[in-house]
Amino acid sequence: MGKILDTAEALWTGESNTYSQHPFGPPYGVEPITEGVWFYKGFAGTTAVETQDGLVMIDPASMFDSQVKFDAFRQVTSSRLNTAIFSHGHTDHVFGVELYVAESQQQGWPKPVVIAHQAMPARFRRYRRTDGWNSVINSRQFRGGVDQVPWPRQYYEPDITYAEKMDISVGGVPLMIRHSRGETDDHTWVYFPEQKVLCTGDLFIWAVPNTGNPQKVQRYASDWARGLREMAALGAEYLLPGHGFPVMGADRVHEALSNTAALLESLQNQTIDLMNQGASLDQLIHGFKVPADLAALPYLQPVYDEPEFIVRNIYRLYGGWYDGTPSHLKPAPEAAQALEIAGLAGGADKLAARAEKLAQAGDFRLACHLADWAHLAAPEDQAVSAAASRIYLARAKAEPSTMAMGIYMAAAQELGGGAGEGRLAKGQLILAQSERGELE
Ligand SMILES: [Zn+2]
Repeated sequence: MGKILDTAEALWTGESNTYSQHPFGPPYGVEPITEGVWFYKGFAGTTAVETQDGLVMIDPASMFDSQVKFDAFRQVTSSRLNTAIFSHGHTDHVFGVELYVAESQQQGWPKPVVIAHQAMPARFRRYRRTDGWNSVINSRQFRGGVDQVPWPRQYYEPDITYAEKMDISVGGVPLMIRHSRGETDDHTWVYFPEQKVLCTGDLFIWAVPNTGNPQKVQRYASDWARGLREMAALGAEYLLPGHGFPVMGADRVHEALSNTAALLESLQNQTIDLMNQGASLDQLIHGFKVPADLAALPYLQPVYDEPEFIVRNIYRLYGGWYDGTPSHLKPAPEAAQALEIAGLAGGADKLAARAEKLAQAGDFRLACHLADWAHLAAPEDQAVSAAASRIYLARAKAEPSTMAMGIYMAAAQELGGGAGEGRLAKGQLILAQSERGELE
């Protein structure tokens, strides 16, 4: 086996883990999976299936690695690109087609066709309208608030869109294209029944599903679980994910999909049951539990997103924005709250000192409230800002998920005047290099 399948095996058996082999980690290049099927494990995964009339490709490239992936596939196959399918409209999945179109023009081949869900063009319009915002939040999510990268305004629009399902045959190879809301409203999974190859897109990513993302638009836990159950029933032997490594063998594929569905179903049911009892958001996020058997699974670790954030997103889908704490309905400015609390505590410096004590004792949740109040009460006090920055840096390093680490690292950078300790620990933060497709 090659490096990708060796790592996939080590991850499944527990010899390795997703903290050191982060699903969004550095690229591994392209490897054969089964007869006529290639998988590129990059920041995102790309699958290519050979047919008698060229390639079917799922998610050709991200906004950073189009050329790298194109060159890698051209090392292993010279077949033209016949059809590309975008699993969803996130920018790590919808680039790279332009290079194959240019190649086809040069070679006099027919132009490749791009298929995607019908909601994708509206997503691209939204991305153009909110490009600044997306640049800011992705900098926090992936880079700890440094190195803002301009958000793309040019997208390759799909040639063919579909609503619920589409069954086609390309060069004699049948494929099933199916819609399932999940990480996005425009998500697609693809199954090649003859090869028994399943391309899940980001519905499976070798981690707690990205159903909670604190900075992004709504995700859909129950639809997502239903999609996973549908995929689990296919009898697929090869699962090629949107991020992370392949899952090999029908039993493992079934188990991975079913257990991921079970996690989402559990969080969904706990949240709705508590909401039906009138629970506040505070009671929800401190009241749910991840079933212990699921929490132990190697492919359900919170290395990217977290169950707590998923509970919040389920609440957001079924509830309003009011969180159940009455003072939050029409709050005083946070700086005014902070001044009042600092006054009672005897000064912002007292709050900051207590925050550091709590952080040293490992109570980061409480420590960060005090750190925020201290800084907001005395925004010009550099000693207070430095203390708050240290607390957020320590918290970033202690968090398991990319989502939390990125936000806390960004806070540390901002409070420290950009003088934080640099990037997060290797294997935990998604390194900028991996997004750009540079090989280690
Ligand atoms: Zn993705």
